[in-house]
Amino acid sequence: MTRPAFKRILLKLSGEVLMGSGQFGIDPETVDRVAGEIAAAKEAGFELCVVVGGGNIFRGLAGAAKGFDRTSADYMGMLATVMNALAVQNALEKIGCDTRVQSAIPMASVCEPYIRRKAVRHMEKGRIVIFAAGTGNPFFTTDTTAALRAAEMNCDALFKGTSVDGIYNADPKQVPDAVRYESISFDQVLTDNLKVMDASAIALCRENHIPIVVFNIREEANLAKVLAGEGTATIVQN
Ligand code: UDP
Repeated sequence: MTRPAFKRILLKLSGEVLMGSGQFGIDPETVDRVAGEIAAAKEAGFELCVVVGGGNIFRGLAGAAKGFDRTSADYMGMLATVMNALAVQNALEKIGCDTRVQSAIPMASVCEPYIRRKAVRHMEKGRIVIFAAGTGNPFFTTDTTAALRAAEMNCDALFKGTSVDGIYNADPKQVPDAVRYESISFDQVLTDNLKVMDASAIALCRENHIPIVVFNIREEANLAKVLAGEGTATIVQN
């Protein structure tokens, strides 16, 4: 089945993608490979912005479970996303891509603060904008950030690059005959409580009519395929 091809895309990179085959942190080779695929997409005419997660370094919930105050832990998680954003920016600039990092938590000597109109202008000038520090608020996730920024930037779709090739009716690691959906509605994702993105991210995309394409970004050259509407993925739409 061929899915629609979109023009302006928000790419969500979860932190775990950036750790490659490691258990923690940033794997430079993986970051370079992903950056190369983002650059190729740009070259192919897509307008791209990126939201990076931080789970490869620190997650607020995990920190809270170990005794950190939840809000402090969430700020630590948001700071982790800034490290990932700088790594992705560095890899993109090495191969000649013009980029900007905008952080929802202002840190003037490191990157720009998040200013929507400025981010739009960067994209119009052909730059890839990388959004860091989530929404800037504790108790949120970078999935919700991705939905929010996709809406703010008028993106045609949100591409969630992850470690699985779509959404299944059960966990494919536990249930061998689990079936992958080609297409599924926002409502079904919510009512069946399918673990794709958190409910607030799904609801935000549903309200703003932003389809979500879930695909495996660990598979080499897969980003180009799914951006072209091909390859294995699941699309969530109204
Ligand atoms: N986070 C937050 N507010 C946000 C976005 C992220 O507090 O708006 C924190 C939260 O603690 C989260 C961490 O940053 O666990 C890293 O983000 P996330 O877990 O979404 O990263 P991913 O799973 O995509 O790697």
